[in-house]
Amino acid sequence: MSKQSTDFYNEIKQVGKATFIAGLNNSYSGNFSVRISEAGNNILIKRRGAMMGFLKNSDILKITLSPNDKQLKLASTEARIHQAILRNSTARAVLHTHPSYATVLGLEEKEIKPINVESAYYLENIPVLVFDKASASKEMEETLPEYLKKYRVVVIRGHGVFAVGQTLGEALKYTHSAEDAAQIIYLSRMLGFNINKLVRAKYLHFPRLDTPKAFGERE
Ligand SMILES: [Zn+2]
Repeated sequence: MSKQSTDFYNEIKQVGKATFIAGLNNSYSGNFSVRISEAGNNILIKRRGAMMGFLKNSDILKITLSPNDKQLKLASTEARIHQAILRNSTARAVLHTHPSYATVLGLEEKEIKPINVESAYYLENIPVLVFDKASASKEMEETLPEYLKKYRVVVIRGHGVFAVGQTLGEALKYTHSAEDAAQIIYLSRMLGFNINKLVRAKYLHFPRLDTPKAFGERE
């Protein structure tokens, strides 16, 4: 395996493990995809049924972005959505997870607006998208790329989260930040705080500085 491939595989395994340890996925939920060449059509994607927290090399499939790729039936059930996002946006990596707090807020809210500094920095707004079929649907294939051109993270009502980045590490950073935002909003509501007032707090308005790169994020 080339040095570049080894780097991709290591990053994928680390991110998969992190999603499980952090409670962003249950044992078998979630999936990922990563574009592996600058102009090329090839991606790495999770094998259907593999555990995100314990990925082996054989759980990482190399397929193309073609909707007719014969290996699609071996890949994640959400593979066509991953392909559509990578074909139709500038994202180079897509991470899908089932974080509890973001999913809970998404059951009622139309959007999640962070009230903590870090999440507000990365994610001014997290839209909640509603689908009749909220998993592996044509409707999601058509809608998600448009939203993920504009937003780093979207919540799918009743299902979970899709996030994009230039690397999978970056997509993890935004996913985790979205879940932090949702948890802090949830806890603030439990204490009876006024969320509408907190959204306008001065400390959420700050200059945009360069920030340290996430794991795997390239210069
Ligand atoms: Zn899912």
